[in-house]
Amino acid sequence: MWFPRPEKIEDIHIIGKVVPLTREELFALLHDTQARELKEKVGVVSRGGSAKSTTRLLESQDWFFKSDTTHQTDDFDALHKQLETTKQIAKRTGIWHPHKTWFIMKAQGKWWPMTGCPTLHMLRQITDEDALLQGWTQMINFAIQCSRTHQYGIDINPSNFGYDVAREEMYYVDEELYPPLTITEVGEAAVARIPENHQHVSEAFWGRWGKQLQLHLRTTLMDLEDWRHLIDGIRDYPLTSRWTSVRKTFIKGIQEGHWLLDPSVRRKTAQKQRAERICIFSDIHGNLPALKAVLKEATKQNVDSYIFLGDLVGYGPYPQECIDQVRALPKIKCLRGNHDQMIATGDIPDGCNRLARESARWSHQRISDENKLWLLSNPLEIQGDSWIAVHGAPQDPERIYAYVYEMTYKDNLKYLYQNKYKLCLYGHTHVPFIYRMLGHNTFDKLPLGSIHLFEEDSTLLINPGSVGQPRDRDPRASFAIWDQNQQELTFHRVEYEVEETMEAIHQSGLPEDLAIRLEMGW
Ligand code: ZN
Repeated sequence: MWFPRPEKIEDIHIIGKVVPLTREELFALLHDTQARELKEKVGVVSRGGSAKSTTRLLESQDWFFKSDTTHQTDDFDALHKQLETTKQIAKRTGIWHPHKTWFIMKAQGKWWPMTGCPTLHMLRQITDEDALLQGWTQMINFAIQCSRTHQYGIDINPSNFGYDVAREEMYYVDEELYPPLTITEVGEAAVARIPENHQHVSEAFWGRWGKQLQLHLRTTLMDLEDWRHLIDGIRDYPLTSRWTSVRKTFIKGIQEGHWLLDPSVRRKTAQKQRAERICIFSDIHGNLPALKAVLKEATKQNVDSYIFLGDLVGYGPYPQECIDQVRALPKIKCLRGNHDQMIATGDIPDGCNRLARESARWSHQRISDENKLWLLSNPLEIQGDSWIAVHGAPQDPERIYAYVYEMTYKDNLKYLYQNKYKLCLYGHTHVPFIYRMLGHNTFDKLPLGSIHLFEEDSTLLINPGSVGQPRDRDPRASFAIWDQNQQELTFHRVEYEVEETMEAIHQSGLPEDLAIRLEMGW
């Protein structure tokens, strides 16, 4: 038998939670008479990527199974441990399809590591130009995120990525992880698309991709250094002279209009160079009048960059407009919040409350695909020298679900201390707060106002409050400014036209409760 199969159901051991297939179902799929052994895809070295000759592939109904003859073993425990680690990585990084199943199977007297994954629409097979560019952009962003946030390198090749059309999301289909990639290597992988896609020869196409990459990577690559490395990779990659002008157009697309890379933009901002004043804001939740009021005040306060802590959308009546506003800000870093994730994927759990659910469905239909993609490309954490920013709670490995509040703040402060962070900016609760730990077990809550950061011996958890749906009984929009010169953070509140948002909620048919709570600040 080319593809190994279990003799009985008990020979299958699923790793972790049984989602979505039971071992009975796995057994049935593996023994399905219609299942196809994909021998022809193995051992062929071609441009389309290849599988080693030891790889075993099986397609059964809409599932794709994979194993490797060299990985079969007598040592069940070691294999189990190894796959559990992989499963943990999968959970933490989200690079593989959420239904991907790891299991161990006994066949031919040995234990085999196996994976099963829903069949995906491969990125390599996409021909529509817009969809192709989006896919490539997502692939590049994905690779950077994975290297930066999780310290894993992935193989940047369209053969290794597949779309789940229903979820509108792309996943890594390769099993292999590598050491983290440098930005230069990412640049090389990007420019390598040119000779591999000679059917797309128009320069405009590559210019368009450059521009799109710039927009998407704006929130990921913040330093001039990073951008230089990306462009170095693109410029120095060996290509025949046939591609010289295409490559130039591609680079131009990446640079044009960028505040660091475009000389004409740089000249304009040159006189403003000094230590940064960063606007820290969170939980806009589709409230455009509140967002505008905050941005206006922030400009008045001379901020020069922005860190957004997540939940741009959900609840409020202006999801698309808010995304457009925030994306257009210069020097912005954005986190992905739980609502952003839920709305962008359209994957709305029954467990979440009625208001969140109804508004999530409503918002999902009102955001462009491009903006959904952007929401999903935002990272789950931002790391600085001795600080970190997350949407939910630093202690939560998933970063976006758990709350920092009365019951959890001490544990979260201890977590920060153990991980050598002196500051964590967070959102999600919609209540401005400063929690502090002095030494490693004295806790207090400080009055809002101004606070000095990075003081000897103190660890801080700071929430700037919510822009678009404050819940501390003060309806004014809340945010903070971090002055990096003084290392001081100041809280701010601004009034905005609450009635305007309430009226828009009313007009949109969203639940009326969403309007009332804005007026109450609750
Ligand atoms: Zn929120």
